[in-house]
Amino acid sequence: MKISEILNSRPLTASCEIFPPKKDADFAGVQHAAEEIAAIGPDFISVTYGAGGGTSRNTVKIASHIERWTGVTALAHLSCLSSTREEIAAILQELREREIENILALRGDRPTDGAPVGNHYEYAYELVREIRSAGDFCIGAACYPEGHIECPSKEEDLVHLKQKVDCGCDFLTTQVFFDNSVLYSFLYRALAKNIDVPVLAGVMPVTNAKQIKRICALSGTSLPPRFRSIIDRFGDKPAAMKQAGIAYATEQIIDLIANGVKGIHLYTMNKPDVARAIFDNLSHILREIDGLPASVREQL
Ligand code: FAD
Repeated sequence: MKISEILNSRPLTASCEIFPPKKDADFAGVQHAAEEIAAIGPDFISVTYGAGGGTSRNTVKIASHIERWTGVTALAHLSCLSSTREEIAAILQELREREIENILALRGDRPTDGAPVGNHYEYAYELVREIRSAGDFCIGAACYPEGHIECPSKEEDLVHLKQKVDCGCDFLTTQVFFDNSVLYSFLYRALAKNIDVPVLAGVMPVTNAKQIKRICALSGTSLPPRFRSIIDRFGDKPAAMKQAGIAYATEQIIDLIANGVKGIHLYTMNKPDVARAIFDNLSHILREIDGLPASVREQL
């Protein structure tokens, strides 16, 4: 099913994200994690594509596995910076053959090790345009409530975002943020620029302090003092950090829902227990506003 249809038909959606295996030996483990997350009942599961400008041949395979074996809609990420037009065309063909209808169109990060990138694509809007003309896909793209790290200003970033949306995006998913007021301000500013496609709020339950410091340094995401205190206090105590991270993300989501946000995207990566804990924490809220697929609501 197209994610645009899901977003149109439901008062609230909750989706999860996983990353594909880097090595084929890890394939079964990722499949298993995906199945466990699917069993929790997200509206869709997204599957990332490489990192640091890399590619991933396992993204489509994992997305296909999710749709075939769990019945949950999959969103395949696809980045273009390191690809040629021929490679992108081949991946689109594979997605068509596997009947995957949803793509998150990305530029990809510039490699930090100075590795060369391709010269076929410079920005994600070019990929969005290409996918739009290549067939009947539902297309998502990334957006940055705090501005993309390479862009000199948030204002300019929004101009580029508008261009990307105008090329054919059906929805946007935000970069992770830890202060909801950052998202609310972004939503106002985006609407003022006539960016009116649905925006899914990206929430990350932080379970690993080191990892989040790295992610924030790379992406420019800010850590509000309240969250920094949690990391300072519990960062070297894994069980406590996990509990605090889940609690913080739960509170963030409750505030988002209370303020009318209609799409929550959970960066739970390949951790079904974390996804399960968040969904359990929200079960009454999700049931109250019909925010879970009927099959899952009945199990609660
Ligand atoms: P773009 O939209 O092209 O923007 C990149 C930069 O270029 C921005 O600074 C923008 O302002 C600027 N820009 C855009 N258009 C123009 C223009 N016409 N002229 C001048 N400047 C312009 N990375 C992966 O490798 N794999 C993934 O699976 C992945 N998933 C992600 C999912 C989400 C929800 C998010 C938020 C990010 C994800 N990323 C992923 C990271 C992403 O690839 C990086 O953030 C990357 O640096 C930018 O990608 P983009 O698609 O936003 O690029």
